[in-house]
Amino acid sequence: GASHVTSPPGEPSLPLKVADLQTDSISGARVLLTGASTGIGEQMAYHYSRFGAEIVLTARRGTLLQKVMEKCLQLGAKKVFYIQADMSSPQAPEEVVHFALQKLGGLDHLVLNHIGGTPFRMWDGDVEHTRWLMQVNFLSYVALASAALPILAESKGSLIVVSSLTGKISTPFTTSYSATKFALDGFFSSLRHELAMQKQDVCITLCILGLIDTEMALEKTRDKVYMSAYPVAEAALTIIKGGATRAREVFYPWWLELLCCLRDWFPDQRDVVIQSFYNYTSV
Ligand code: NDP
Repeated sequence: GASHVTSPPGEPSLPLKVADLQTDSISGARVLLTGASTGIGEQMAYHYSRFGAEIVLTARRGTLLQKVMEKCLQLGAKKVFYIQADMSSPQAPEEVVHFALQKLGGLDHLVLNHIGGTPFRMWDGDVEHTRWLMQVNFLSYVALASAALPILAESKGSLIVVSSLTGKISTPFTTSYSATKFALDGFFSSLRHELAMQKQDVCITLCILGLIDTEMALEKTRDKVYMSAYPVAEAALTIIKGGATRAREVFYPWWLELLCCLRDWFPDQRDVVIQSFYNYTSV
């Protein structure tokens, strides 16, 4: 029958119908989840826990990861471990995958979700920041995927890449961030072709998210964006569902898919509409 997912204790209850979610494929699944200390990553950790997954969490802040880990255990995770890692370090991806393999003995879902901090404002010519952000948001994803692919191939697993609307349609005040997200689409969509051509049964799910009400996003966009933010717990569940059902792409909210379909049809109108969502005077 239909099962329901509710929010963690102490948070607004969010009954979500997940009848079409193959929860069996998540129960006992071995998951490596990056950027799990806050926001969407934290909520994904709780959902995976309710489904009875075995999880390795990673981010930089150990104190937060420790707290998330404890909550995961309360919610029903079979096993939870965490490893602190700064993804601006070129060695971090391999260390993290090695740790996960050691603790879980294999991997079914690799969820790439972390991002480096970036200002929400007009381009100021800081090329060094762009280089650093490319390392954190893009190159570390490539390195994590590369280290994990042989293991995912063994388990016929899922590689889940969290991206953004601004990785499909460019928006203002996000120059470097948008570039890193477009890069993810280019790399992982090309890789998806190659896996299919090699008849490798690893799915790649690219997740296109709109504005989500995480602390980080609300803080950055306050007074600058006329858009409503969508609930983080539902965004997190939609991503997990996309990976479990082996979807090529996931859009949340759903209508972003329509927007992406129209992207190249009316470019002048599109740009006027996009700019109308942003408060230019406060940036
Ligand atoms: P948060 O800022 O809440 O979470 C980011 C996570 O990444 C944290 O766990 C953070 O932990 C970790 N992190 C930050 N810097 C590093 C680093 N150098 N190395 C390793 N980990 C790091 O962001 P969200 O939850 O909002 O975003 C999650 C994903 O969703 C991202 O891919 C984002 O692009 C995407 N998204 C979000 C939207 C939104 O509106 N919120 C909209 C569209 C897409 P720590 O600081 O402890 O390292």
